[in-house]
Amino acid sequence: MDENCIFCNIAAGEMDTDLIYEDDRCVAFHDINPQAPTHVLVIPREHIVGIAEAKSDHRDLLGHLMLVAADVARQKGIEDSGYRLVLNWGDDGGMAVPHLHLHVLGGRTMTWPPG
Ligand code: 5GP
Ligand code: ZN
Repeated sequence: MDENCIFCNIAAGEMDTDLIYEDDRCVAFHDINPQAPTHVLVIPREHIVGIAEAKSDHRDLLGHLMLVAADVARQKGIEDSGYRLVLNWGDDGGMAVPHLHLHVLGGRTMTWPPG
């Protein structure tokens, strides 16, 4: 854990953030600044800065995050209407928090190309 990392602190339960899903490897919670009616973040408990720093050892964990994101979307009732999973990296990608996180966005029609 990186004690200076906001998402590490959320995963550790040290912030006033409700976890809507948790297991031994990851947690999910509502984005503080939602960009859609449903906007959930799924993060690993391990402090991985982002996808570009993930290693082959993380292969199972990354797959797990995707499957948890799909489960969260199902629980949120957006499976049938559809949703988007987003993983940002770097300045051009729009990454703001340097702890890997998967956005689950739904409840409205998404546009393409993304902004
Ligand atoms: P990024 O731009 O790095 O892909 O996404 C970071 C996301 O984290 C943003 O959507 C932002 O609103 C969210 N976020 C940043 N700080 C907090 C926080 O303290 N709590 C929650 N719930 N979300 C946060
Ligand atoms: Zn972290």
